Amino acid sequence: MTNRAYNFNAGPAALPLEVLQQAQEQFVNYEGSGMSLMEMSHRGAIYEGVHQQAEALLRELFGIPEGYKVLFVQGGASTQFAMVPMNLLQPGKAASFVATGSWATKAIQEAKLFGETVVAASSEADKYNRIPSLAEIAIPDNAAYLHVTSNETIEGTQWAEYPDTGSVPLVADMSSDILCRPLDISKFGLIYAGAQKNLGPSGVTIVIVREDLIGTPSLTVPTMLRYSTHAKNDSLYNTPPTFAIYMTNLVLQWVKAQGGAAAIEQANREKAELLYRTIDESGDFYRGFAQKDSRSLMNVTFRLGSEELEKKFAKESEAEGFVGLKGHRSVGGLRASIYNAVPLSSVRALVDFMAEFQRRNG
Ligand SMILES: *Cc1c(COP(=O)(O)O)cnc(C)c1O
Repeated sequence: MTNRAYNFNAGPAALPLEVLQQAQEQFVNYEGSGMSLMEMSHRGAIYEGVHQQAEALLRELFGIPEGYKVLFVQGGASTQFAMVPMNLLQPGKAASFVATGSWATKAIQEAKLFGETVVAASSEADKYNRIPSLAEIAIPDNAAYLHVTSNETIEGTQWAEYPDTGSVPLVADMSSDILCRPLDISKFGLIYAGAQKNLGPSGVTIVIVREDLIGTPSLTVPTMLRYSTHAKNDSLYNTPPTFAIYMTNLVLQWVKAQGGAAAIEQANREKAELLYRTIDESGDFYRGFAQKDSRSLMNVTFRLGSEELEKKFAKESEAEGFVGLKGHRSVGGLRASIYNAVPLSSVRALVDFMAEFQRRNG
């Protein structure tokens, strides 16, 4: 398997080669059943085993304590932008947010459809190149929850340390950094993440929710958009995205084989440090977008001296087998997404390319 690209896609993103090979092996005839997993009933014993194992592994690897439900839902993180306020925002209360960038802004926009929203802190004045400090955050008295975007995929910033919100539930969009490091889950009221960056293919969204927050939303909330529906039915109220959950289960097995969340964090730090060092030691040829204390372990964003040079970098890197390095159209520049499954060897190849590109163009 020598023709695998150096995949730095932002999402959907690289999956571990071992996982793809295992899925390929099991694809046509799943464990001697005479059919693929996709062709099976979601009520049958074989699929249910996969479903339960995926939940159990996520609980084990992410240290999810008793008193939390793990849900597999559909609609992506974008649907959670609505589901969170639909289920957690009571009348007379406010949904509060830390505005850190593109994804936080989308979450705020959607919550406005359901009630009052308050921006408790914002880095908009700095073009979202940093995560506000904990001291900047002013949670309103009537807050139903505080929502943070754990990792801003587009700007390349990440929370190093989460705010202590006391009795106000902390809600986190972890779509682009779930399971990139060990966390104390008991600090959170609700965590959600689309799978397609760090956990598997697109099609399944993970929700981790403290049981006392599931509650009973207003009568007009559709059945499928209530956390209670999925919690009561172990995410089998209707047909779940069986193949996406199966692939997520394989990725979780891979994480476990790597040594779990702590080992994954160590590998992620090594990859990120290699890239940031290359940027910092380039004498301003490469310029990191995020402020240093807000740098993301997952999405490394940087610029060059001119847009022309950035275009040249994108084009030449592509010709060398690097995929996905062009920055998001909304912010420009370049971005290397180095999620859990991106191997160190890809990052080594990239820093070599960066050094060579600088030598030719610096
Ligand atoms: C990708 C992403 C989303 C959107 O996810 P979908 O599954 O496409 O809806 C939301 N938040 C963050 C932080 C993301 O990276």
